[in-house]
Amino acid sequence: MSVDQRFTYLGVEGLRTGRFDLELNTSVILYRIGSTLIDTGPPNRWPQVRNFLRERPPRQVLLTHHHEDHSGNAARIQTEYGAEILAHPAALPELAHGWRLRPYQRLFWGRPPHLTAQAAPDRIALENGLQLSMLPAPGHAADLVCYLEAERGWLFTGDLYIGSRPRYLRRDENLPLQIESLRAILRHDFEVLFCGHRGPVPDGHRMLSNKLAYLVEFSEQVRELHGKGLTVREITRRLLGREDLTRLATLGHFTKGNLVRGCLTKEAPD
Ligand SMILES: [Zn+2]
Repeated sequence: MSVDQRFTYLGVEGLRTGRFDLELNTSVILYRIGSTLIDTGPPNRWPQVRNFLRERPPRQVLLTHHHEDHSGNAARIQTEYGAEILAHPAALPELAHGWRLRPYQRLFWGRPPHLTAQAAPDRIALENGLQLSMLPAPGHAADLVCYLEAERGWLFTGDLYIGSRPRYLRRDENLPLQIESLRAILRHDFEVLFCGHRGPVPDGHRMLSNKLAYLVEFSEQVRELHGKGLTVREITRRLLGREDLTRLATLGHFTKGNLVRGCLTKEAPD
């Protein structure tokens, strides 16, 4: 029922882990380049993550954002290995004090221990002359960042991508801001996208462009139907079909209706 898979892609090591092997987003991927780790997996998979880390103790950890499936083992890695934990400055208060976890989040991922992390600099040096640039990409979360290795054309995206045609949205996501971030990230040159849930995506720039195009078109359709007087519920049913088990299991936190509602948000607030 659980999942633990190892892989290596272009020299980047990965561990996919999750308590449940259901949908794509019920497991998550930690990436490792030398002694640098990108994301840390969920707290309830610490034994599996620790086995992966024992092979090569991490020196530094880069978090893509504070969500528990990505930052969940950062505190333990800091304690056990003395590794430096880096994240966008906006992630630091949540990492230090925690945030509200819904029942489904506690079930799938567990509750992460708190930690004091450091603000990631704009450029982070790795071994072998590799260098990652931190690129803010808010929307899915206010503190979401991507890490770009420009020479190799690699982009570590956390939860910016996941898929080209999303059908659900978290209630706390900001869709207009996400669309802006997709545009900003796509101005950079990269080829391979390392997604926190899907894994390595070889044609990454094109796939991320596809997501942007889909969201822009979808937003236009939603606004058009809304202009004709249809309600969010009616628009959702017409474009995405009825709500399903996902809404029930997440108590309305992750739904089709949120995606439609997100398209009607006028501006991208800070
Ligand atoms: Zn996330």
